[in-house]
Amino acid sequence: MADAQLTAEQADFQEYAERWLAENAPPPPPERLPISAIEVMTTGQRDYLQAWQYRCWEAGLVGCDYPREVGGGGHEGFQRIANQAMAGARTPLLINIVGLQMAAPTILVHGTDEQKRKFIPGALSGEEIWCQGFSEPGAGSDMANQQTLAVRDGDDWVVNGHKVWTSLGHFAKWMILIARTSKHHKYDGLTYFLAPIEGTPGVTVRPLVKITGESGFNEVLFEDARVPDANRLDEVGKGWTVAMTTLTYERGAAESAGGGGSSQAHPTQRLIDLAKSSWRDGRSAADDPVTRDAIVQMAIVGEGIRQNGRRARVPALTEHPMRIPLQSKLLVSEFAQDVARLGVDIAGAHSTLYKLDPSAPDAGHWPLAYMGSYGHTIAAGTNEIQRNIIGERVLGLPKSK
Ligand SMILES: Cc1cc2nc3c(=O)[nH]c(=O)nc-3n(C[C@H](O)[C@H](O)[C@H](O)COP(=O)(O)OP(=O)(O)OC[C@H]3O[C@@H](n4cnc5c(N)ncnc54)[C@H](O)[C@@H]3O)c2cc1C
Repeated sequence: MADAQLTAEQADFQEYAERWLAENAPPPPPERLPISAIEVMTTGQRDYLQAWQYRCWEAGLVGCDYPREVGGGGHEGFQRIANQAMAGARTPLLINIVGLQMAAPTILVHGTDEQKRKFIPGALSGEEIWCQGFSEPGAGSDMANQQTLAVRDGDDWVVNGHKVWTSLGHFAKWMILIARTSKHHKYDGLTYFLAPIEGTPGVTVRPLVKITGESGFNEVLFEDARVPDANRLDEVGKGWTVAMTTLTYERGAAESAGGGGSSQAHPTQRLIDLAKSSWRDGRSAADDPVTRDAIVQMAIVGEGIRQNGRRARVPALTEHPMRIPLQSKLLVSEFAQDVARLGVDIAGAHSTLYKLDPSAPDAGHWPLAYMGSYGHTIAAGTNEIQRNIIGERVLGLPKSK
């Protein structure tokens, strides 16, 4: 539907995006798709989602804001419109979430022209899956405590270390990797690499199984793995600064920079559908006043988050440019948790049925969403850390340490 605030060019693009999506709906998936891109587990899911991202990119709906020289559409402001159209059409998520939302925008800021031309097109098209190698067993919230070592050897760096919680690592061609290149400086001793993963000697990827029974993330071991110096992003010792650029995008400072997933769109409608097919006290849960009230509360919060996001695009409506963008990670992840908790509540005893049970309501979506939602308040930095960041950077409170 046309938006009164759009320019004529943007309105034309919106009309094109909506028409293209209506005419090019993807075929049904060969198997059940995960709720989010970081839970893609099987090659069947990967192939289907990769093919869909490629088609969207070819149609100009992914990477719209990127320069044409790097595989983008060259139209700033179009990605948001494409994302809304994808959400409205309820199309499958875009699989290359690390490539789109972290690697590509970071390379655009810090990369050489050669690196931009080499790495960004494959991230946008989804042909080259990316993963993120920031977390280690002893370096999560304290990200600067990286122990993975990279030692220069001729034109290469030799990497040794242990990364963990690496989403999509099992399908990744590339990793955005932070490694220690000097033991003498905590922050200035870090360097950022675009490390080859798939088929690289000395790199082992081992899946980790989550509470949901899915294994979208991994641990990645580096044992004398070689990374060419040509794959170093920015200067030696500037890894912390580059990582901050990545985290700014990951934590929501730009609305899905390259294009984003849409599988979690319209949660309220999904709750309403669930209530209509569930029973409470001998009648439809959709007729139960308590359930109806709880769904309405979710609808109000969801709409509030949406309207807040719109305010972020009008500089005059917020006194600090990062206030609303930095809130979005908190609001969206906690809202998803509340929605999933209500879904489990509405499904009642049936929410104990796993996704493989044919009697599971909504094909077992709600217990998976509920269990998975806790990971989303931890991933991309925990919500406690995000609150610290908002306190320090936006509210100007004293630093926590
Ligand atoms: C689903 C999922 C996907 C992930 N994907 C990736 C990925 O692809 N790549 C990657 O690199 N990492 C990934 N992570 C890892 C994630 O970034 C870390 O789990 C997160 O940063 C927290 O680190 P930690 O697990 O080591 O917890 P810790 O840092 O040990 O924290 C433990 C607890 O202490 C609290 N805490 C710690 N420090 C403070 C403080 N200063 N103030 C207040 N509270 C504090 C935390 O909030 C948390 O509750 C993923 C995690 C999840 C759950």
